[in-house]
Amino acid sequence: MAWNYKTEVEAITEDLGDISFEGKRILITGGAGFLGSWMCDVLAAQGAEVICVDNLASGQKSNIAHLLPTKRFTFIEHDVSVPIGFKEGELDLVVHMASRASPFEFEHFPIDILKANTIGLMNSLEIARDHDARLLYTSTSETYGNPQVVPTPESYYGNVNAIGPRGCYDEAKRCGEAYVTAYQTQYGLDVRMARIFNTYGPRMRFDGIYGRAIPRFLDQALHNRPITVFGDGSQTRSFTYLSDQMEGLLKLAALDSAKGSVVNIGNDKETTILELAKTVLELTGSSSEIVYSPLPKDDPLRRKPVITRAWELLGWKPKVPLGEGLARVIEWQRAFCFNK
Ligand code: UDP
Repeated sequence: MAWNYKTEVEAITEDLGDISFEGKRILITGGAGFLGSWMCDVLAAQGAEVICVDNLASGQKSNIAHLLPTKRFTFIEHDVSVPIGFKEGELDLVVHMASRASPFEFEHFPIDILKANTIGLMNSLEIARDHDARLLYTSTSETYGNPQVVPTPESYYGNVNAIGPRGCYDEAKRCGEAYVTAYQTQYGLDVRMARIFNTYGPRMRFDGIYGRAIPRFLDQALHNRPITVFGDGSQTRSFTYLSDQMEGLLKLAALDSAKGSVVNIGNDKETTILELAKTVLELTGSSSEIVYSPLPKDDPLRRKPVITRAWELLGWKPKVPLGEGLARVIEWQRAFCFNK
């Protein structure tokens, strides 16, 4: 069957069970990005009114093109780090997702990354405050830096190099968490934070500085070009498929009982980067060879979350195995990027 985004939206809606955002008015910053656009899709499909704010710096209009003509969707091209003074109507929920996230971007746009997660986030918090709305902030496993405690629980404080190549992202997100906490403490705002572990799926960029390990490896394999493993490939990540991530995020946004929580949303199955490269080769049937180059500075050696909080608070755990998720991305990448 040909790849169709509606299949993913239906799967996520089914995962959400009786959780519905029907009739809610929701502002999503970074809504044209990989995760943001899926959130727009699911919420619009559930009958929410969605306002997407994105400056298209790393997000793409093609991710939301199909939503543009629909009644319940509004797109505002705007940089969140500039106040938008969004007053119209009543908002129920603000989701702050706007940020570049690829390590290759850290070198080129460190100031934008810092601004999106501090000044930009503060603008979102002010909007939430104006509207008496709930706010969900998408933080990251990068707040743990190169963790000395693995598997890593939410209570771990992190091991971050503020002046290293990843400092702009790690510290921006840590500062973002402090901002969110401050708005809760000082104004009693209803907030929640997700620490997202490496998530992959259709619509993820694989080009140039935007490419993360999974889409880059798939692109390389599908073109029979060398697979570029950094270091010896023994570093690990815990890869979470898009539909699992969306289910976790939307449950965190929806449930009253999650108020004030920070929750790891990630797979608890740890995979080495070399295993990932080999799995990609197997699934694509590619003749690519694996080539090795030095591990980038401060590249975290292990990432694996403790996810008991997500289970206890949200009834969430990941369902999609890596092989199955990769097969879905391959289908998308073939359909949309290679026209095969
Ligand atoms: N990686 C790699 N080759 C690539 C891109 C990434 O070996 O072409 C490695 C990278 O060094 C890291 C892991 O894959 O250890 C995950 O990288 P990604 O860019 O997805 O993001 P990160 O988890 O580091 O933020």
